[in-house]
Amino acid sequence: MKYFVTLVRLLFLSVFLFLVTKGNMVLWLGIFAVSLVAALIFGRIYCGYVCPMNTAMIPTEWISKKLTIQTSNTPNWLKSGKFSWITLLLSIILVIASKKVLHKNFPFLIIWLVIAIIITMRYEPKVFHNLICPFGALQKTFGKFTKHSKTVVEEECIGCKLCEKSCPSAAIKVTVDNKKANINTSLCHQCTNCQQVCPKNAIQYMNITNKKQISI
Ligand code: SF4
Ligand code: SF4
Repeated sequence: MKYFVTLVRLLFLSVFLFLVTKGNMVLWLGIFAVSLVAALIFGRIYCGYVCPMNTAMIPTEWISKKLTIQTSNTPNWLKSGKFSWITLLLSIILVIASKKVLHKNFPFLIIWLVIAIIITMRYEPKVFHNLICPFGALQKTFGKFTKHSKTVVEEECIGCKLCEKSCPSAAIKVTVDNKKANINTSLCHQCTNCQQVCPKNAIQYMNITNKKQISI
């Protein structure tokens, strides 16, 4: 599963870089728009499989850990969670102003790719994913209402927390009261990291309204 997920990510990264070289970012924004609708049904699959920033952040985090420059702290001023909405608004304003005033396309996707890499050199991925990314702000909103998601089968869960440690967006937490893992669908990228480490195979992709498991 791990190699399949990596392959899908690299394929989308190649498409993204191809579109960058062709200057056709509108098509990529079209993919993003479709992914928002898809998030209502399948969860935030854009973040887990398609997003070039996420794909670039994975090796960046590995390097950051090797160089021991990553901190587990989160800057206090980011904690309210409002900053990602500000970055979204600023991105929209810059794109429109650049088009109207300079008659140029503002390369905001490339700029965000670079910002994501720089932030991940210092902070855990959840800081960028949950508190800074302008695209994440929208994905969070749509992902909250998803029909399908990675879900913990409580009877199987032994509360070992291995899933918590593997999650790039702090979407899965073992609750203090019943010692069972629980997934927040608005933060979950459907990335399979938690499934890969769970010793009890307790995490499945399923319809969260009727708890019917889906094979993928
Ligand atoms: S890794 Fe599996 S068994 Fe361990 S806490 Fe997470 S869901 Fe439960
Ligand atoms: S909960 Fe699991 S599938 Fe969702 S983002 Fe975290 S590791 Fe990935």
